[in-house]
Amino acid sequence: MPDFPSPELRRVVVLGTGGTIAGKAASSGDNIGYTAGQVGVADLLGGIEAPQGVTLVAEQVAQLDSKDMSFETWQKLAQRCAHWLAEPDVAGVVVTHGTDTLEETAFFLHSVLACAKPVVLTCAMRPASALSPDGPQNVRDAIGVALAAGARGVTVVCAGAIHSGADVQKVHTYRLDAFASGDAGVVGYVEEGEVRRVRAWPEGGALPASKIFEAAAVQWPRVEIVMSHAGASGAVVEALLQPGNAEPVRGLVLAATGNGTLHHALEAAALKAQEAGVAVVRATRCMNGRILPKADDRLRDAGTLTPVKARIALMLELLG
Ligand code: ASP
Repeated sequence: MPDFPSPELRRVVVLGTGGTIAGKAASSGDNIGYTAGQVGVADLLGGIEAPQGVTLVAEQVAQLDSKDMSFETWQKLAQRCAHWLAEPDVAGVVVTHGTDTLEETAFFLHSVLACAKPVVLTCAMRPASALSPDGPQNVRDAIGVALAAGARGVTVVCAGAIHSGADVQKVHTYRLDAFASGDAGVVGYVEEGEVRRVRAWPEGGALPASKIFEAAAVQWPRVEIVMSHAGASGAVVEALLQPGNAEPVRGLVLAATGNGTLHHALEAAALKAQEAGVAVVRATRCMNGRILPKADDRLRDAGTLTPVKARIALMLELLG
């Protein structure tokens, strides 16, 4: 671990939310048949030595499989991050999280937190009970990033790479190095606790997110994702907009092909929805690149955002 950046920054707070990193299987040889979110965050820090003069503070914010992530947990997590970042002696916050929706939580926090300090999400592909778990090294690396001089913004640390919370995507179902940053590339690497940065730290917090920090319970707008594909139709959009639906749909993200193209039948239904007042955005299904806008586009596009991130951006926009 490097020396910590300044004598005033004495604490790193580790917020636990569950995931495989806190998972347990019946046998140490089983890397897939486990239950996520079993081990408390204080125990995950058990074997990790803090650099001299640094105290690690553990706080359990949630204990779930991140496939089941909820808006309530996001709100609580954002509030706890903001709380700890405001403490003058806190260098940064580490969040232990499942890999499945890690990119969504990272993008959400990136969107709502104005971080002059680092918030570092980390995870594991193998449960804590595995013969050779990857979680402890990832947590150690994340603490290294939280303590790195000049570190700021929301990042994700996995398998020695540092990704920006804006660009990261889970790209592998099994490999320990399961994340990538697409065209943007990684922010850097962590090597023996030292950060080797190759591009700027991410800047976030552009969206007005006061409701998330002030309201006890947020009324999250319903935004659904509908995919365009061979043989698509307008049926899903029409079903979603049926009058009498308990929770009305306020936004639609169309997971579009290539440069934002849509099956003509889906496009017709989406245009009708837009005319009826639903916010409609196209986001590309492609892993890399962005939608290049054209003069005759009738539905706006989400640029580089993937459909799941475009959904979060649209929800925050509707909330704002
Ligand atoms: N289902 C797990 C989760 O997202 C997967 C993982 O953490 O790797 O919580």
